[in-house]
Amino acid sequence: MAKLKPESLYIHIPFCAHICKYCDFTKLFYNERFVKPYLNELFKELDSYKINKVKTIYIGGGTPTSLSDEDFEKLLQKVKPYLCDGGEFSVEANVENLSKAKLDIMSRYGVTRLSIGVESTQNRRLKEIGRSHTYEDAVKVVNEAKKHGFDSINVDLIYGFNGQSIKDLENDLNNVLALDVDHISIYSLIVSPGTVFHNMKYKEQDEEESAKYYEYIVKILREHGYERYEVSNFARNKKYAKHNLTYWHDNEYYGIGLGASGYINGVRYENTKSLDKYLSGDYIANKEIVTKEKDFEYFLLTNLRLESGFLRKDFKKRFGIDFTQKYGNRLDKFVDTGDLRIDENRVKLTDQGMLIMDYILLNII
Ligand code: SF4
Repeated sequence: MAKLKPESLYIHIPFCAHICKYCDFTKLFYNERFVKPYLNELFKELDSYKINKVKTIYIGGGTPTSLSDEDFEKLLQKVKPYLCDGGEFSVEANVENLSKAKLDIMSRYGVTRLSIGVESTQNRRLKEIGRSHTYEDAVKVVNEAKKHGFDSINVDLIYGFNGQSIKDLENDLNNVLALDVDHISIYSLIVSPGTVFHNMKYKEQDEEESAKYYEYIVKILREHGYERYEVSNFARNKKYAKHNLTYWHDNEYYGIGLGASGYINGVRYENTKSLDKYLSGDYIANKEIVTKEKDFEYFLLTNLRLESGFLRKDFKKRFGIDFTQKYGNRLDKFVDTGDLRIDENRVKLTDQGMLIMDYILLNII
């Protein structure tokens, strides 16, 4: 049977108006000189995939909204025809350059979902991590986006800063809740090699404390009507990020742009992070043909991040074997401790299991 074509498209815009101290993404300091050649090459790469229509498009970065209005419009104009009717069209935005003009352009090109990097609501903290906006700016931008008719808005928040108390976290959560948006993504601060924080020897929160903070976040957001549907993602009114669900369901997707990754026809690939190589048309840096064993791994690494886990019948359909038959007694200890729940239909981690997800996966896979 012929494989279905991917139904999701990710597009990477690497430019940023400033570089955040914790940032581990593929990004470049905004330089007008490189933007046009980059967009030209990006469009060539996009054309090379001969994509028909997809159900979700996500333009991420970097900072897509760091582009000039003209370039930003050119990008949306190019990408929009790939989206099927009723599809999800998401754009990542930074507070400092999500102007009314950008919102107008996005409304005109049918963007359905905004993901705004708020990160912290304490101005002192924002400064410390290298962000150039304030919480007051974030409030203004979110309200302006709502006035423009965007009713599907995500805000990103980070926790686990040095010296952050539970009280500070509570303030951040209250301030984010006051933004009254339907989707919140919350990540613990990771200090990765190559980042400014890593060079500064900034210390990550220890695991035990991080778990305590995480449990607090889940509790507060649930009390306020947000469903944790993925380990770091919370939604109200079932406003899930459909594009990201493609990744968490371990489905295939096109990935376009500097440093982007994709998964097409059983092959995972990563694009080069070198702008020179990218601009010369040498897009792909690594390819991995996903073997059957690797496919099992990826499936669990992604699907167990979801609150709903996965259906055993879906596992069987994909792999031709029942989940319990495949993993046998490796599962028992986690079922006995109440970390993993397996019933006749579904496999999922419990609240307790989510806290030690990496450990469980390491032991099962
Ligand atoms: S965190 Fe976002 S805005 Fe900051 S440097 Fe990285 S990609 Fe750019």
